Amino acid sequence: MFEQEPLKYEYDALEPYIDKETMELHYSKHHKGYVDKLNKAVEGTEFAEMNLFELIENLDRVPEEIRTAVANNGGQHLNHTLFWKNLSPNGGDEPTGELLSTIESTFGSFKDFKEKFAESASTLFGSGWTFLALNSEGGLEIIKKSNQGNPIEDGKRPILALDVWEHAYYLKYKNKRPDYIEAFWNVVDWEEVQERFDEEI
Ligand code: MN
Repeated sequence: MFEQEPLKYEYDALEPYIDKETMELHYSKHHKGYVDKLNKAVEGTEFAEMNLFELIENLDRVPEEIRTAVANNGGQHLNHTLFWKNLSPNGGDEPTGELLSTIESTFGSFKDFKEKFAESASTLFGSGWTFLALNSEGGLEIIKKSNQGNPIEDGKRPILALDVWEHAYYLKYKNKRPDYIEAFWNVVDWEEVQERFDEEI
């Protein structure tokens, strides 16, 4: 069985950048819906016992009749789990140490990185996600994915995720996705991102 991890902050803790109503609906309806549908799809199979990363890495082994449901809902479960964890009411500062120096050497500066990430997220057509991910050489890449996509599919490890589905911002920001992306930087938990950057593969 797959479960939603509890949020490490209250629904209103990310105000004014991400509003309480959006957080509550997003976590308790949208994300929960993906987890419920995933559990229904894998019920009684060996895949119900896997951890989430294993499941996404082994999608080609999932029987065809449940593969789409597992890929869609499993991908969304994984992406939301990453997203909630890389947000914090105490976020918004800048990365430090090796993460910062790798961002600078890859993108020019932290400001350049934020601009490129924001451009990727704002130009993604339709629903999807933008990630900062580590490739197998230890380099950083900005990756955008439609729908439930995740860099794990390409052998890369996501360390920062931004949900740009309309349900993530429409109540507060309406059609102004770039304003939501700009607000996002105020609640990024760079310590969490740093921990993922430091993790052994
Ligand atoms: Mn979402």
